[in-house]
Amino acid sequence: MAKTHNLGFPRIGAKRELKFGQEAFWKGETGEPELLHLGADLRKRHWQHQSSLDLLPVGDFSFYDQVLDMSFTLGHIPERVKGLTGSELDNYFRIARGRSASDGGCNGVHAGEMTKWFDTNYHYIVPEVTADTTFSLNADRLLAQLAEARDAGFSAKPVIIGPVTYLWLSKEKDNSSRLDLLPRLLPVYSELLEKLADAGAEWVQIDEPALVTDLSRDWKQAFESAYHTLKTSRPKLLLAAYFGAMQDNLPLARNLPVAGLHIDAVRGHQDVARVVDWLAPHKVLSIGAIDGRNIWKTDLNGALDWLEPIAAKLGDRLWLAPSCSLLHVPVDLDSETRLDADIRNWLAFALQKLDELDVLARALNNGRNSVAVALNNNARSIQSRHASLRVNDPGVRQAVAAITPDFGQRQAPFSIRRTRQRAAHRLPLFPTTTIGSFPQTADIRKTRKLYRNGDLDEASYKSLMKDEIHQTVREQENLGLDVLVHGEPERNDMVEYFGEQLEGYAFSQFGWVQSYGSRCVKPPILFGDISRPQAMTVEWIRYAQSLTDKPMKGMLTGPVTLLNWSFVRDDLPHRQSCYQLALAIREEVQDLEAAGINLIQIDEAALREGLPLRRSEWPAYLDWAIESFRIAANGVKNETQIHTHMCYSEFNDIIESIAAMDADVITIETSRSDMELLNAFDDFQYPNEIGPGVYDIHSPNTPAEEHIAQMIQGAAARIPAERLWINPDCGLKTRTWEEVVPALKNMVRAAKGLRQ
Ligand code: GLN
Ligand code: ZN
Repeated sequence: MAKTHNLGFPRIGAKRELKFGQEAFWKGETGEPELLHLGADLRKRHWQHQSSLDLLPVGDFSFYDQVLDMSFTLGHIPERVKGLTGSELDNYFRIARGRSASDGGCNGVHAGEMTKWFDTNYHYIVPEVTADTTFSLNADRLLAQLAEARDAGFSAKPVIIGPVTYLWLSKEKDNSSRLDLLPRLLPVYSELLEKLADAGAEWVQIDEPALVTDLSRDWKQAFESAYHTLKTSRPKLLLAAYFGAMQDNLPLARNLPVAGLHIDAVRGHQDVARVVDWLAPHKVLSIGAIDGRNIWKTDLNGALDWLEPIAAKLGDRLWLAPSCSLLHVPVDLDSETRLDADIRNWLAFALQKLDELDVLARALNNGRNSVAVALNNNARSIQSRHASLRVNDPGVRQAVAAITPDFGQRQAPFSIRRTRQRAAHRLPLFPTTTIGSFPQTADIRKTRKLYRNGDLDEASYKSLMKDEIHQTVREQENLGLDVLVHGEPERNDMVEYFGEQLEGYAFSQFGWVQSYGSRCVKPPILFGDISRPQAMTVEWIRYAQSLTDKPMKGMLTGPVTLLNWSFVRDDLPHRQSCYQLALAIREEVQDLEAAGINLIQIDEAALREGLPLRRSEWPAYLDWAIESFRIAANGVKNETQIHTHMCYSEFNDIIESIAAMDADVITIETSRSDMELLNAFDDFQYPNEIGPGVYDIHSPNTPAEEHIAQMIQGAAARIPAERLWINPDCGLKTRTWEEVVPALKNMVRAAKGLRQ
């Protein structure tokens, strides 16, 4: 009999209850008891949702982040919060969020660094280690939650992050090597496992997603030594790898002395055969057959075709699960009442995925006939998606097939374009500009909301937005900026705004996924071939240009970012969707140009996020990603200046690809590291113009003129001054006008000073 289990459940709640609870607590509107109670409530509800499983996860719930939870379990918290007063929860949030001396009483603490959890859009708090780091067990949280689950009658399986992945996720704060800490870490894990066994846990899920990444010999060796040390512990260990294929790490994983192995059969389908026939006869194999990273229904009949022979071979040793924790998908499709019925019928959120798991297990255990109705319905959904004309648009397919190399090619090389552009736009040395958005005031948000809900007619909405644009243009003229923007008041989100106007995109109402802490995102659903029925931005930008003699920069989101911040298709290579998006944006670029807009910025904030976990897959990704940008951008005259923007500047490893985008101007984030990140430009001569962000828009502080001037001088040491632009490091939409005006004033003054 195949068993079912789950690796983790979304913790925010179907209506983002946790987010609202956290935020109320942080504001001091509620106390610790209320928050703890909410946590217990959510856990219980989530276990109830999973009660059909043979084993459900415990310890996957978190008040902020599961990696930070693990750090607490290992008694590993930064020195700077040790000895601070307040409760454990208080300290926990101190590390998670940081706390300034002003809002946290006298205990000012800076937040732990956050970074992306593998290739997801979830961000974890990076454990900080030094040569002196020590660990000591604090199992209270896990034991309490285990007891909670068992008392409520659930068959629970504690979930922890494995020791090697824990170190893999950590960052050294000195010159030590974090792997050296393994011998110090393992006794704490042994102790933890014993405690869990004492508390009645038969199985423990030990997550080691580092197994799907490129591992050097040292790291492979670390897996060997860790699991040979832990093999004497009493609970049975289910070693879980996910987010990809194990490839060269597979023989290692297969032979580790654990009781079971979980593999991601969605992204690593090729691993399945290499495990089934090679796994030691006493080991359990957990197959992650349902996509935990996307929102499509599983083709259950198709899955059964390959699972049935495996079930026959493995019998009781086969477990079934989603490919990874369901943290990365929304909770419940049933909440989506406004979603188009066709599209809804193709989707499965976390709860629906658990139903699918149940159907698969029943079919394997009792025959397909026992779930004939469910299988039939599923087959009809899969078929309807497959055959839908909304998904497959022959015109779009033809357009992509007709792309030729010259689509990605500007008419003349940069050196020629540059002269023409300088002459056409009459820009000074060190031209000043901004990244696009200006403060999104409460009024702007209210106007958009009224319009969206049908409480404001289109004409009034447009006229109110135009007023905003008008003011924003006047402000920029007063400030003396050289290249103006319209300010993006009409945009709620840089992806959603475009997605809503493109064919092939759908939007959920409650499809929230945790990004970090209380922050959630609602990725648009890219379900079909993409086309652009009509111009999306031209009216606004043409209006803005009509108000000024200064050059107006048109603002678009690039194809790669549209793709990387959406739920994407699983029935078409990402590359193809990206080319489709590129053609749609290309049409918009050409329409803007035809409307007299001579500077156009195409934001690619998420280009780097799409990099695959494996280095060997980088070139293929960069190839189509950069080509997509070029297709979108390059169908314009030499005089038209193409800008792009990226919210980071860890460019060292992809600088050649960035240069290959051939944007005339690129603006990037550099201010937080005082231009240190421009190191990438030491070894590589970036050929075009560049605007290294001169101040950090994430902070409310006003940057000093001298500081900005210093930053630019620092940049000029590496990049010829005549190729430098001066701009903030990202859009200004989260700031207030009171913050923006003095900051930009200083920026413009610094530029003028430097020109002298
Ligand atoms: N043009 C966008 C803005 O200014 C860019 C945002 C981003 O890069 N994240 O808001
Ligand atoms: Zn940005």
